[in-house]
Amino acid sequence: MERKDIPEELKQKFIDLYGCAPDGLFFAPGRVNLIGEHTDYNGGHVFPCALTIGTYAAAKKRDDRKVRFASVNIRSSVTEISLDDGELHLDGSGSLKELGLGANDWTNYPKGVIWAFAEAGELLPSGFDILYFGNIPAGSGLSSSASLEVLTGLVLRELFALNDVKQQDLAVLGQRAENVYVGMNCGIMDQFASAMGREEHAIFLDTNTLEFAYAPLVLSDAKIVITNSKVKHQLASSAYNTRRSECEKALWILQKAAGGAEKIPSLGSLTPHEFEEIRGAIEDPVVKRRAMHAVCENARTIQAVESLKAGDLRTFGELMNASHDSLQYDYEVSCPEIDYLVAEGRRIDGVIGTRITGGGFGGCTVSIVKTDALETFQQVLSSKYMEKYGLAAEFYVVEAGAGAHRLS
Ligand code: ADP
Ligand code: MG
Repeated sequence: MERKDIPEELKQKFIDLYGCAPDGLFFAPGRVNLIGEHTDYNGGHVFPCALTIGTYAAAKKRDDRKVRFASVNIRSSVTEISLDDGELHLDGSGSLKELGLGANDWTNYPKGVIWAFAEAGELLPSGFDILYFGNIPAGSGLSSSASLEVLTGLVLRELFALNDVKQQDLAVLGQRAENVYVGMNCGIMDQFASAMGREEHAIFLDTNTLEFAYAPLVLSDAKIVITNSKVKHQLASSAYNTRRSECEKALWILQKAAGGAEKIPSLGSLTPHEFEEIRGAIEDPVVKRRAMHAVCENARTIQAVESLKAGDLRTFGELMNASHDSLQYDYEVSCPEIDYLVAEGRRIDGVIGTRITGGGFGGCTVSIVKTDALETFQQVLSSKYMEKYGLAAEFYVVEAGAGAHRLS
């Protein structure tokens, strides 16, 4: 579907499916993270922006307790549940994944949001019908899941006038749904960017306090380019959770060495210099490298935002490059295909910086590329990548877009 036609087409599909017109149309964007990777669960800073691609929904309140979900992207029938069903009432004994229920079912994301709303005291007075459509490339690490969650929260708030739920709460409740209900231990970045994005701005977010500031994305004669490697290695979600526990272990050791948890509340609270002084306490070289990434990536992110504000795009690009190297060697969440795209990208004139973006093990790279080098960048990379891996990389020249909002 063409972007401008999506709302109308989705409305028509809703009518075809459910037999009546929706009460409203809604949108929540995906995101790309410019720098600050794997820092959002370490109390560090991130610097993402929302995109203009994302997930759309048409929805209508019902008079009974039924909820019906469907997605244009998932060609299966409608999933119907009742607000009174047991699956919406986790009893604190763990996520659905741990309970072995409904694994890999996409409706866990919206169900999780209903559950998170209920847990926060936001009970729905009735059910609803909803139809989703997303134009984020599947499995590319541009956070279709967060956009689905934030969008669902927005729909609930708007349909049922849950006016206590602020825009930022959509992020927090979406993350809660993904953490507890879906069982993916993600940080707050993706949902925050999807809920709080602003056109032509990136968000400098302290994930420890949720304090944030918008930074204008003034790139003058350059653009943000996302390159989709089209690979997604199986490791992704298990390794993500392993990295989290490695960082927790590092923090625990450092806190013990420092003589108290309050001295080092998170890895993100340490400067590289402070880390240098205390890192000897960590014996395991792998755990040490993980912590090293978390600390230095946070410092790079702070510096990158400063350099962007100062109009120093060159330093911004160098920090993006350093971020990739750290993710490749210290944090070990990259993969050969992505490393190849990054290495070859850096050889092209006019590429200011390029790195892996998202959770890792495939997905996309994000690059800042001079406008006059855009064509060469895409041509050279796509032909080299095809030759080496037999895969057709995809390129998206993106703009920073607005956060989740009602369309009509
Ligand atoms: P991403 O990096 O895109 O967030 P995830 O694996 O975290 O990747 O989330 C992708 C999952 O989110 C899909 O497998 C599907 O279950 C769900 N999803 C995302 N967008 C849609 C959509 N438009 N319709 C149905 N399910 C969706
Ligand atoms: Mg996701």
